[in-house]
Amino acid sequence: MGAGVVGAAIAWELSTVPGWQIHLFEAQASPAQGATGAALGLLMAVLSERGAQKRLASLQRYQQIQTKIPIPGNSQGILHLYHDPQDWQKNLAKIPRRQAQGWILEIFTPEQVKIRFPEVNCNNLCGAIFAPQERQVHPTTLTQNWLNIAQQRGVQIHYNSPVIGVIPGAPIRLKLPNWEQECDWLIISAGLGATQIAGLTAPFELAPVLGQAVEIDCPELAHSPIFYGNDIAIVPQKSGVVWVGATVEFSPSEQLLPDPKLLEQLWQNATDLCPLLRGRTWQRQWYGLRPRPVGQTAPILQIDPRCQRILWATGHYRNGVLLAPFTADWVRQVIQTARV
Ligand SMILES: Cc1cc2nc3c(=O)[nH]c(=O)nc-3n(C[C@H](O)[C@H](O)[C@H](O)COP(=O)(O)OP(=O)(O)OC[C@H]3O[C@@H](n4cnc5c(N)ncnc54)[C@H](O)[C@@H]3O)c2cc1C
Repeated sequence: MGAGVVGAAIAWELSTVPGWQIHLFEAQASPAQGATGAALGLLMAVLSERGAQKRLASLQRYQQIQTKIPIPGNSQGILHLYHDPQDWQKNLAKIPRRQAQGWILEIFTPEQVKIRFPEVNCNNLCGAIFAPQERQVHPTTLTQNWLNIAQQRGVQIHYNSPVIGVIPGAPIRLKLPNWEQECDWLIISAGLGATQIAGLTAPFELAPVLGQAVEIDCPELAHSPIFYGNDIAIVPQKSGVVWVGATVEFSPSEQLLPDPKLLEQLWQNATDLCPLLRGRTWQRQWYGLRPRPVGQTAPILQIDPRCQRILWATGHYRNGVLLAPFTADWVRQVIQTARV
């Protein structure tokens, strides 16, 4: 259930197993209409602490996948900029461990940043760490690519097909507006929609968290890496457009609609980081709701406690694009292990 980036990765992964008959049900008329359509697509893993194992495994999985299918996006690496001395020291301390695991990380002093990346404002900068193996993927194009390949391998994709109810059992019965479908396994990758299905009680809660972004023209950055600092990401695309968004953005009123003040603040912070952006017109602005698990860490990868053939693969919060391959691998392994 669900053709966001997570459902698409799962459909693609499961379609590699010969003999499985796979249907993908999507409520909307096309894929990537939920959080995926709003995502910046950053794959940040190497300097992370929380959930680092999953993130690194997923980044590694992306490296394998890109040898098989084209992965669109910015592959120039991510330059992490640090303005807080404590944060800088904490991240410097991680470097030897990650390097020992084979990850490449380069340290830059503010003077070196000034020379190598003159577009970055180095005022109050403690230093920067460049992670060349991190990257950005274009979330909607990647979702579509995964689905195209899955479809070529026989996966049947049903758009405008919301699953409105589920009757657990053997087989599991899915209720759709005009018909029913039986299945041996059900994988719920419906993002925020996961907790809204009649007949199922999700063993967790999800809360929507607002995220906003803008697109501007800035061809000068077309070949630059991604700049990331103060929770702001500046994401150049080859086409000459640049996406700007925040990775953390709690609205004080917890509102779920776009917030112009937050967006203005985001833009202000981005132009402080990269003054070249100042004065550019927003070509496009958008927002999305991230599926955040309440009271537990993201993502939710769980076998349903009442029906062992229902798998929950949702609640990816800020890292659904990054964690999609890891999630897909988990789903395949659960099913294959159960069938042995
Ligand atoms: C502004 C912003 C920036 C982000 N940046 C990043 C980033 O840089 N890197 C990163 O890794 N993540 C990022 N994220 C988070 C990322 O977008 C999400 O974690 C990810 O998209 C979740 O994917 P999903 O497939 O689980 O959910 P969704 O994309 O929401 O897809 C769920 C799908 O299920 C369908 N569905 C729901 N209910 C039903 C039903 N009953 N029957 C059938 N279909 C149903 C929906 O229509 C939808 O298509 C960002 C999010 C936002 C908002």
